[in-house]
Amino acid sequence: MVLETPAKIEAQPLTERECPVPEPQGGKIRIRVDACGLCHTDLHTVEGDLALPRLPVIPGHQVVGRVDALGTEAVGFREGDRAGVPWLYRTCGRCLFCLKGRENLCERAEFTGLHADGGYADYIVVPHDFAYPLPEGFSDSAAAPLLCAGIIGYRALRISEVRSGERLGLYGFGGSAHIAIQIARHWGCEIYVFTRSQEHRALARVLGASWTGSAEEEPPAALDSAIIFAPAGNLVPHALRVLGRGGTIALAGIYMSPIPELEYRWIYHEKAIRSVANSTRQDARELLDLAREIPIRTEVETFPLSQANEALLRLKQSRIRGAAVLTMTG
Ligand SMILES: [Zn+2]
Ligand SMILES: [Zn+2]
Repeated sequence: MVLETPAKIEAQPLTERECPVPEPQGGKIRIRVDACGLCHTDLHTVEGDLALPRLPVIPGHQVVGRVDALGTEAVGFREGDRAGVPWLYRTCGRCLFCLKGRENLCERAEFTGLHADGGYADYIVVPHDFAYPLPEGFSDSAAAPLLCAGIIGYRALRISEVRSGERLGLYGFGGSAHIAIQIARHWGCEIYVFTRSQEHRALARVLGASWTGSAEEEPPAALDSAIIFAPAGNLVPHALRVLGRGGTIALAGIYMSPIPELEYRWIYHEKAIRSVANSTRQDARELLDLAREIPIRTEVETFPLSQANEALLRLKQSRIRGAAVLTMTG
């Protein structure tokens, strides 16, 4: 499913195309795709909210499949191995950020489904050292949301500086939040979930939220940390209003509508607002380990690849329970 010209998802900008099967050169491996998760970033790609470095491009960066060919310098995988591909496609390994262990900020980073063709396809080619073995016990479609929703949710938890036993607010309850809540519960945190969707509130309570409500409501106690998953800048003042002294708000999206003007007293008492930008390979490995250890249970709704437009539309309308995943046939 190829994007040639960005447009609102209602106009169905992705089109089905026959493309040549890509060849893995050098250190790359080729994966025959079985499942690919959908992410809000895909929506921002398809609708042109993000600057697009190349067109046409195949979106999709939560890719699960089997290795079916290896370049001459590829190591770490054998034909038939299950492998996952996340958003981080390649980093330079030489810039200051790469050298400081902050490769998520690499100035020459490339991303799957943006700089390189992604997983809305039967095959994908990826550098061997940016693909991951996946934990047993997860079907292909259940594993897919771990690869962005899971990894970004995990990084957002760390950026939010929430500690064991503290109170954490989650704004928006889609694919990423439904995984992050399971990690935070594992850490013994108390979770308040703010979302308009009654269905999302019900899922949040099943997964251990002790309170659910709307962003305008007052939770039972002040938050130590919050994560805003919804791409809505108007949520920032709401979160600041119920955030305690010294608290941190993590903004988990790659895109957000404008944040309204803030009064200084709202951020006084050393409150912090931090964005979450991409993730490192270390984040991916830690999240996949946690997924096996907890174990994380993903809720997925699956759609055939040919219905990528319809599935993204449902994602935009918050009409997905848990995470949406495309499955390949044949
Ligand atoms: Zn770099
Ligand atoms: Zn993503």
